[in-house]
Amino acid sequence: MISEKMLELGKKSSVIREIFEYGRVRKAEIGAENVFDFSLGNPSVPAPQKVTDVMNRLIAETPAEVLHGYTSGPGDLNVRTAIADYIKNKYSVNATPGLIYMTCGAAASLTITLNAITELGDEVIAFAPFFPEYRVFVEQAGAKLVTVPCKTEDLQIDFDVLEKSINSNTKAVIINSPNNPSGVIIPEKDIIRLTELLKAKQQEYGKEIFLISDEPYRELVFTGEKVAYIPAYYDNSFVCYSYSKALSLPGERIGYIFVSPTMKECGDVFAAVCGAGRALGYVCAPSLMQYTIAECLDDTADVSVYEKNRQILYDGLTDIGYTVIKPDGAFYMFVKSLEEDAYKFYERAKKFELLLVPGDDFGCPGFVRIAYCVDTDLIERSLPAFKELFEDYKND
Ligand code: PLP
Repeated sequence: MISEKMLELGKKSSVIREIFEYGRVRKAEIGAENVFDFSLGNPSVPAPQKVTDVMNRLIAETPAEVLHGYTSGPGDLNVRTAIADYIKNKYSVNATPGLIYMTCGAAASLTITLNAITELGDEVIAFAPFFPEYRVFVEQAGAKLVTVPCKTEDLQIDFDVLEKSINSNTKAVIINSPNNPSGVIIPEKDIIRLTELLKAKQQEYGKEIFLISDEPYRELVFTGEKVAYIPAYYDNSFVCYSYSKALSLPGERIGYIFVSPTMKECGDVFAAVCGAGRALGYVCAPSLMQYTIAECLDDTADVSVYEKNRQILYDGLTDIGYTVIKPDGAFYMFVKSLEEDAYKFYERAKKFELLLVPGDDFGCPGFVRIAYCVDTDLIERSLPAFKELFEDYKND
């Protein structure tokens, strides 16, 4: 027979996808312009022209056997060298190509990393709210996901809860800053506190505790807040990077894993990353995309559009009376539900053609996520609907 576990995963699509599908049907019924679809984190800004230009040049000039050929398993050496040099220059961390593994985006970076480091019985900590696929990735690697709720007033790390959640089974902690779904950035002082705590716990339990930094939104920062580069603070760290969001290339599936050079036995750890990539079938990331991003390492899409959307939406919602966690980055906003059950709130919002995502799947009930990577015009036109929804609750 077939795997019951995979059958269940395949049949049960994510809530976000369900809402998105509902939106498609609804748009066909009443016209796309009349549905305020805030469900999906699909970048609305096109990739920079440079990406297209580089791709066109590569297609025109590169011999087919190179352009479309297999690269080496962890990725093309020149590409990995370019990324290592970029990390060295930008973050003053001693990166080498031998510690960089090219992947099909952050999802693959995370699954490979988790499979490389965890064994049965290990626990992996994630802070709620978190990207829902973490549960799937961690459990498939054979480990257990332990969720640590953030402080509800600002969705920052609650160190008391975190400290109690670390035990001798803790193998890794995942952070995601700027965060999906809240847009919150972990301030440097909290990164220092977190890494100090993990160092102390490593000593206490006499073992490594890895810190995995999931960074698809690193470049999407609107407040000048510093996004700490984790390998500069903590030896046993991994960076799981992706070009999906800041370079607007989610469908091209390209990213990488960087293993910190100061990690104990980093060569063996990198070999385990290669082993996990092999076991999962994630070798030789797409070649054209590898060659393309190597020439666009310092480029982003025009992210000022998200900054503008954020301001209009934040001002509009708070003027109406909503409680909003002000996001520093990414392109998501986390808004307090107007009733305890965020699913009921989501259902009621649908009556006003507002498609929001309940926070429960992100491990944070009582909130909804708004993905504001949409046309600015849609944000502006949605504000009266948000007002009507708010008034509707007042009439209860
Ligand atoms: N991690 C987080 C926090 C995300 O929001 C996403 C995608 O939305 C991913 C990982 C996966 O990204 P990718 O498209 O690069 O696989």
